Amino acid sequence: MTTISDPEAVPAAAEQVRGTGGVLPHWKDGAPFAGTSSRTAPVYDPATGQVTKQVALASEADADAVIASAAAAFPGWRDTSLARRTQILFRFRELLNARKHEAAEIITSEHGKVLSDALGEITRGQEIVELACGLAHLLKGSLTENASTKVDVSSIRQPLGVVGIISPFNFPAMVPMWFFPIAIAAGNTVVLKPSEKDPSTANWLADLWKEAGLPDGVFTVLHGDKVAVDALLTDSRVKAISFVGSTPIAQYVYATGTDNGKRVQALGGAKNHMLVLPDADLDLAADAAVNAGFGSAGERCMAISALVVVDAVADELIAKIGERVATLRTGDGRRGCDMGPLVTGAHRDKVAGYVQAGVDAGAELVIDGRVSNPNQHFDGAADGFWLGPTLFDRVTPDMSIYTDEIFGPVLSVVRVDSYDQGLDLINSNPYGNGTAIFTNDGGAARRFQNEVQVGMVGINVPVPVPVGYYSFGGWKASLFGDTHAHGTEGFHFYTRGKVITTRWLDPSHGGLNLGFPQNI
Ligand code: NAD
Repeated sequence: MTTISDPEAVPAAAEQVRGTGGVLPHWKDGAPFAGTSSRTAPVYDPATGQVTKQVALASEADADAVIASAAAAFPGWRDTSLARRTQILFRFRELLNARKHEAAEIITSEHGKVLSDALGEITRGQEIVELACGLAHLLKGSLTENASTKVDVSSIRQPLGVVGIISPFNFPAMVPMWFFPIAIAAGNTVVLKPSEKDPSTANWLADLWKEAGLPDGVFTVLHGDKVAVDALLTDSRVKAISFVGSTPIAQYVYATGTDNGKRVQALGGAKNHMLVLPDADLDLAADAAVNAGFGSAGERCMAISALVVVDAVADELIAKIGERVATLRTGDGRRGCDMGPLVTGAHRDKVAGYVQAGVDAGAELVIDGRVSNPNQHFDGAADGFWLGPTLFDRVTPDMSIYTDEIFGPVLSVVRVDSYDQGLDLINSNPYGNGTAIFTNDGGAARRFQNEVQVGMVGINVPVPVPVGYYSFGGWKASLFGDTHAHGTEGFHFYTRGKVITTRWLDPSHGGLNLGFPQNI
């Protein structure tokens, strides 16, 4: 499990992604940067269980050097015309669109998700690049003529400086792209601290920016763990932090970053419920539950993990889900399977531990992904981090498979008597990231969108990730800070307002008057 496999095995791996001597470097001043730290972490191919490379873990000195690169690039980038910024963003968009399969292969080889899913996350990230291409419109200020006699008032928005982006393992391309296209479009420079579990996509993106003509230092990558994160949170040159990850770390990042005077948006974990009413189309609901529960092996912050079903239709829905799961192929994401492995062996064991906890707590295990099920097809290497789709029925809100974010392919059916009981359950949950209702009753759906205390709501849509020009963000323990990701909120987060009151000399304005200025 600890051998470094043949670097050529990573298909798209150019030098900047493979790393020198099997160690993936940071990226600063438009080039790989080895740093001085001797600490590294292993990067696995989850479908084989093999270590494919090591990733550098930054020391404080390495973090200082990368932040210095971004800080040095800021004055020039801030003053770069919007026309030029737009051209670079368009070029980045074209390169990304043409070469996204390369990034998808890297993602699959380190995260494990199937290739089509990896391509899908890049495409969703590309939406934000496309939004950012409209930066000239989105950064427009306003002007009021004659606010007072011959006095004009205008407002502009200016970039903040160096901004830090700290991202999770589950979307190594999309989540950073929720933020950096907008941050860069708005005139900031970026330090991206990706997850150490699947770090190579960040270097691939850095190299793509260079090819697109972005000046050196505007986009940098700092690999590492808590040392790198703490450096970003405490360095006075870093003005804002966008974080995505688990709730305890999001809370820590929000508290520490704001204590250090930074603007922080910290998106946390989730427990997403799908409420199925008796009048729903049960075939559509079963498809949706399987797709949203087991896609990306459940390692999505918008995955459905609690299936809240009105008792009258629960048996029928569970039977339909069972038929569909029996057709799924789990295995290597490069072999056309439906579902890949979990990201690490430790995470697979943790999720399997939850399955056992569910059994011990008395839930009914309908499909056990831990065992080789003759009805589930498998196509992968023996040492991969496998766990098949798992379905529980008769889960109650006190069980850990309900209370905890499992982040694996485990779907728990909670039976309720009515819409009201289902809504109460969802609203009592500490998380509020995404939720969905399945019904053909427009009145019930409208009530749900009004009453549910969750940031992103789907009506017959199981994974309601907003399009790029709307904003992404949960409520309650799923988001700390008041600004969601991307859309116009993203442009707001990465800029600060300035209001200018102007009067050009006119003899009629002379004379002393120490009173508070009045608009007349
Ligand atoms: P994580 O919290 O373990 O790690 C996220 C980032 O924080 C990584 O870059 C990691 O290196 C860093 N980090 C980890 N421990 C740290 C510590 N002690 N101090 C400082 N930094 C630390 O999350 P993960 O396992 O990579 O990702 C899965 C989690 O992310 C899930 O909880 C999922 O719901 C959440 N997530 C949320 C959203 C959302 O939009 N709300 C989106 C994607 C993922």
